[in-house]
Amino acid sequence: MFLSCVCEADGRLNTGHAGVLLAERRGSYPLIDLRILKTSAQQGEVETVTRRKVKRLLSFQRYCHASRLLRGLVPHTPRSLHLLDDDYLGQAAHMLSKVGTWNFDIFLFDRLTNGNSLVTLMCHLFNVYDLIHHFQLDMVKLNRFLGMVQEDYHSQNPYHNAVHAADVTQAMYCYLKEPKLAEHLSPLDVFLGLMAAAAHDVDHPGVNQPFLIKTRHHLASLYQNTSVLESHHWRSTVGMLRESGLLSHLPADMSRDIEQRLGSLILATDINRQNEFLMTFREHLDNQDLDLQLASHRHFILQIALKCADICNPCRVWELSRQWSERVCEEFYRQGDLEKKFDLEISPLCNQQSDSVPAIQIGFISYIVEPLFEEWHRFTEPSLLSQTMLDHLHKNKANWSSLRLFSTPLLCPPGCLLPQPFVHGSESGSTG
Ligand SMILES: [Zn+2]
Repeated sequence: MFLSCVCEADGRLNTGHAGVLLAERRGSYPLIDLRILKTSAQQGEVETVTRRKVKRLLSFQRYCHASRLLRGLVPHTPRSLHLLDDDYLGQAAHMLSKVGTWNFDIFLFDRLTNGNSLVTLMCHLFNVYDLIHHFQLDMVKLNRFLGMVQEDYHSQNPYHNAVHAADVTQAMYCYLKEPKLAEHLSPLDVFLGLMAAAAHDVDHPGVNQPFLIKTRHHLASLYQNTSVLESHHWRSTVGMLRESGLLSHLPADMSRDIEQRLGSLILATDINRQNEFLMTFREHLDNQDLDLQLASHRHFILQIALKCADICNPCRVWELSRQWSERVCEEFYRQGDLEKKFDLEISPLCNQQSDSVPAIQIGFISYIVEPLFEEWHRFTEPSLLSQTMLDHLHKNKANWSSLRLFSTPLLCPPGCLLPQPFVHGSESGSTG
């Protein structure tokens, strides 16, 4: 099945927009096509630039590779472990001691870990929860898996990169610690929550689903235009799990169950399903019928927690929140530029000339973020963290509203257009 898809995709992409995507690969535009389109000359070029890029495989290629690996057809070479640079070890370790605080600066942590924030954070949290011992995980396999996940994020993406994954994982950890939830969670719940957060956007191409559909991308046809990216993130994760052998010592039905539940969590991050989850969540809260003794209810709350973690940027302290907003808009604008360049209709929010950062953020906060976090606040109440997040959300929204009054659609560099009240407004608190 997967091999035929490669051929079909290969043929399709050799026409029309294929050349577009191929040409844009090195400009940090959609990346995923080059891996099946590259010529032998380009192959050599890629290998000389970095071996990491060669390691990037499409989800179905990973499947093929993993199945060959499991049959012993491919030599298994352990990857290097990600170690902290000595100079920064102390500072990074100090930050990790405060990893559960809401004002955790993931950008700084990523710099201190030399770009290994996701691997370092995950290893730390697995130790915090004693998951390595509980699931009898092999450390080499764990490092291999986490290294693959981190590398398969596209560092060229302004937003959907490994730092975003680390940020979502850190937020997820904060939510898992919520008293309302923490006492009910099993080690498996925690394992799944952290794994799903770390891998939820893996191999994101930096463009959205409508773009993949209108360019008739092979992933869109593979996943029948539904939850295309999320399905790809999940299937890629499963491929990496199998390739690393991380769960190979577990009973087959247990590892299958883990793969399925990871899929259910990652697919919940599809923003097109936002209302479906919000309505169900609201209904449960109205009826007060959530029973966290039930595995199915805990799984639902993990889905909601992951959705919250994924869109929590506007609930962060202003200085961090603003950086995320500019990054996501930059990614939108790059897609818009690409669409314009090749005479495609520019997608909503992707037109740098007419869609300003403040306008995009105000819409996102009002229609997506606020409704979800208000319900999350109801669920976790009384929660200092939830109150803090809502406080930041309201302040950040007010900041964007003020900026909108005199903003241009162009991105403002860090520190610009920030009247004093906004700076002061951003300094409030952190939580435990
Ligand atoms: Zn995400």
